[in-house]
Amino acid sequence: MGKIENKLIVAGPCAVEKKMQLYNTVKHIYNYTDVIRAGIWKGRTSPNSYPGVGEKALPWIQDIQNQYQIPVAIEVGNTKHVELALKYDIKIMWLGARTTVNPFAVQDIAESVRNLNVEIWIKNPIVSDLKLWIGAVNRFNRVGIKNIKTIHRGFYTDNNIHYRNNPRWDLLADFRKKYSEIPVLSDPSHIAGDTKYIEKLSLNSIKEGVDGFMFEVHHDPNKALSDKQQQLNPKDFKLLIDKLSI
Ligand code: PEP
Ligand code: MN
Repeated sequence: MGKIENKLIVAGPCAVEKKMQLYNTVKHIYNYTDVIRAGIWKGRTSPNSYPGVGEKALPWIQDIQNQYQIPVAIEVGNTKHVELALKYDIKIMWLGARTTVNPFAVQDIAESVRNLNVEIWIKNPIVSDLKLWIGAVNRFNRVGIKNIKTIHRGFYTDNNIHYRNNPRWDLLADFRKKYSEIPVLSDPSHIAGDTKYIEKLSLNSIKEGVDGFMFEVHHDPNKALSDKQQQLNPKDFKLLIDKLSI
């Protein structure tokens, strides 16, 4: 069985689409990952894009956590999301790149988890401003959240050459140097935008000393309703983990 030494692995679909899609994906990967990721509310740039199934997936997630004894992380974009996640025993919530840029949203979400025993992951802001990233971390520190991780998913820039997002390894190195106590997970799926770059980006992330990974995995990526190019199928995901664990 895979597992990369000393790295936390998070994997699962970009978006939960249907009950069977979630269960089928989890069934194939649960013993290759430490945490399942599952986006049920998708903060899409365009209102015409797939928005996620929403709260009807919460009981499915609760059931998966019980059945497989594995934590499931979801994205939260507002306090209503947090309230619902807590109701269904979801203990790991992440802020997306489009939320980290907004101090009002970050502050509201932070207040809604004050002193709770939850884990918060914060993606880098979509723009390359490290102060927004660390500002968000500080907001959760201040409300007593002990378990905070960050996620490097690359930055929107005008000159993205190969990848969907510019990794800006220099900024990651800068962030790690200044805030060495904050764990960073790499999200090569969102940096890459295409499965063909994920292995190379993962190796680079290991070189940068990241503490773990978040990978998008879909049981049938060709049929995915969001981020279809960058989602690995379960077989390729396991091959990748095996390669990275050498
Ligand atoms: C996601 O994780 O599916 C997502 C939308 O990511 P980001 O916030 O990094 O764009
Ligand atoms: Mn995605």
